[in-house]
Amino acid sequence: MLQKDALRARKKLLDRLPVTGEILRGSLVERRVFRHKANCEKCASGEGHPHTVLTVTYRGGRTRQFSLHGEQIAQVAQWLENYKNLREALEEICELNHQLLRPSEDTPATRARKKA
Ligand SMILES: [Zn+2]
Repeated sequence: MLQKDALRARKKLLDRLPVTGEILRGSLVERRVFRHKANCEKCASGEGHPHTVLTVTYRGGRTRQFSLHGEQIAQVAQWLENYKNLREALEEICELNHQLLRPSEDTPATRARKKA
């Protein structure tokens, strides 16, 4: 790929960069709660209650968890997807920029040589 093609491809990616503030990093994990209150039959029977949490891992291995309820689960799933899409688009741009670090095949010098 020529550098001008890389620049054009980069412009195209940049124009449709899925920028939004509605992003989250982490993953959804299904848990089961067994001790939500005293004398609960479902807890006592070992069936428990399904429970969804967002877990976020930080550098160094520290993690945070956020309990989610109801419509939050779908929203968090969407925000995780938004983050993934944005990150993938940024990665693609970085890959194109590697191309720009290479010696150009289309420098003013080679253009002059072609014309001559
Ligand atoms: Zn219970």
